[in-house]
Amino acid sequence: MAGERILIVEDEPRIAEVLERYLRADGFRVERAGDGHRALELWRAANPDLILLDLMLPGLDGLEVARQVRRTSSVPIVMVTAKVEEVDRLVGLELGADDYVLKPFSPREVVARVKAVLRRAGGHVRAPVHHTVGALAIDLDAFEARCGGTRLDLSPAQLRLLATLAAEPGRAFRRAELLEGGTDGFADERTVDAHVKNLRRRLGDCADLLETVRGVGYRLRP
Ligand code: CA
Repeated sequence: MAGERILIVEDEPRIAEVLERYLRADGFRVERAGDGHRALELWRAANPDLILLDLMLPGLDGLEVARQVRRTSSVPIVMVTAKVEEVDRLVGLELGADDYVLKPFSPREVVARVKAVLRRAGGHVRAPVHHTVGALAIDLDAFEARCGGTRLDLSPAQLRLLATLAAEPGRAFRRAELLEGGTDGFADERTVDAHVKNLRRRLGDCADLLETVRGVGYRLRP
């Protein structure tokens, strides 16, 4: 199952980092979201094979994230919670979580649980992850983007940024929404500007699709 994509939703960076390290060591690809809104964005943009979802999150909590995901998707969800008394509700029919992990946990235990759920969910067919905006085509399975058929030379962070924007063409994303963690991520809003500038330079004939929305952030013109 190497190469499958896991979305970690966790607001405590230390815990998220440890989980990411263990999952990557096992060959998984990992995306990280620190709050519920970002989780839904990354879920739409990256279409992961499994979501590891913390219950207590700032803003939109884990229950609401699960509810919104379940409206359209059967992607496996493993809930992470410190509340023993919540477990029945989480895994029951009500929310449709596939399994749960109790905090505090050992990262090894989480990885084992993720693998078990993925094995069980073998029948879950992930929709292909393609976004097309004008002449721009993004293929997250092949992890590449093309403009009018010409392959673009993008870094992984640039590709994820482009995929996030392309998941909702026309929507203006605030810089704060485009921040991401991880080693090649964007640490602050000024870094987002720098990455967008570099990204635009590499988009070739598609550069004019990437628009700056004054006072807000960026969007892809539909
Ligand atoms: Ca939390």
